[in-house]
Amino acid sequence: MQDQYGREIDYVRISITDRCNLRCTYCMPEEGIENYTSHTEILSYEEILRLVRCLAKLGIGKIKLTGGEPLVRLGCCDLVRQLKAIDGIEQVTITTNGVLLEELAGGLIEAGIDGINVSLDTVERDIFQQITRRDYFDSVMAGIEQVKALRYQNLKINCVPIAQFNKKELVKLAAQARDYPMAVRFIELMPIGLAQAYTAVSKEEIMDMLTEAFGPMTPYAGTLGNGPAEYYSLPDFKGHIGFIGAIHNKFCGQCNRIRLTSNGFLKLCLNQNKGGDLLPLIRGNASDEELTEVMRNIIYQKPAAHHFYEDDQQDTDSRQMYQVGG
Ligand code: SAM
Ligand code: SF4
Repeated sequence: MQDQYGREIDYVRISITDRCNLRCTYCMPEEGIENYTSHTEILSYEEILRLVRCLAKLGIGKIKLTGGEPLVRLGCCDLVRQLKAIDGIEQVTITTNGVLLEELAGGLIEAGIDGINVSLDTVERDIFQQITRRDYFDSVMAGIEQVKALRYQNLKINCVPIAQFNKKELVKLAAQARDYPMAVRFIELMPIGLAQAYTAVSKEEIMDMLTEAFGPMTPYAGTLGNGPAEYYSLPDFKGHIGFIGAIHNKFCGQCNRIRLTSNGFLKLCLNQNKGGDLLPLIRGNASDEELTEVMRNIIYQKPAAHHFYEDDQQDTDSRQMYQVGG
């Protein structure tokens, strides 16, 4: 469907939990969270499937499962299988920290997952521990190796470059796309919650480092996903390098996405609180037709653009990244 600005909205990011087995310094406090979504508030898989059936009727056919960490929620592979079976759903992908991926990659692939994004900010165990406050580096690397061993082709590595942590790691991270046909993507740090204490590394700086290490980067015209990433090829690389810059390469004019939080809030923009709470409706007597119409009206109102670093902060969302899912 189209929103009030004529943008085609066809992609929903669904956070299936706000819990996580890592504590990335820029995302979650060390001690965890006091106000996790309670078991009574969290959308059941049946409720998620029902909402997705309604969204599919509005032409929203692409889904990304996220979290918190989506793989910590039991039955995630079955959810993928059931989502894939819904009429109008073209694509179901997932973004994961990879900790449980070695165990679950086979199940996800067998369920028909269309893309696996693994978040990895470093290839050094001690820096991983510094960033995530957990000692799961080997598990994550084993998860990535398992996906490769299964010869899965739609693998992406997502890295958030942060001056205080991993600037010296970026060349090594990019090198992972040399021998395997996957994308390594650098995602600009957004000033949300704890991340406000850290400094992003600019795309230009990263490109300079990669060019020096590997040779000239040439823009890649093909499409490798649903999002706003800009891709580049490097000499002798089987895969590609991508950049997503929500702040310095503002792509709101082409934004195609909405978000559903684990407690049923339909969210229209990453840093704004606009949207609507679907929980009372889905737990009340609303019919599928009513739910669909309510969502159509909410989505239509999608704001024109995010307001990061602008004076107009009145609609800024207090939700943190682990509640929204990126
Ligand atoms: N736990 C899963 C994971 O890490 O992939 C899914 C949720 S996590 C919030 C999704 C992505 O958001 C991760 O790649 C993470 O690095 C990224 N992220 C978290 N906080 C961010 C921020 N302030 N700016 C940019 N990306 C951020
Ligand atoms: Fe967990 Fe992902 Fe946040 Fe790290 S970025 S704490 S893995 S939700």
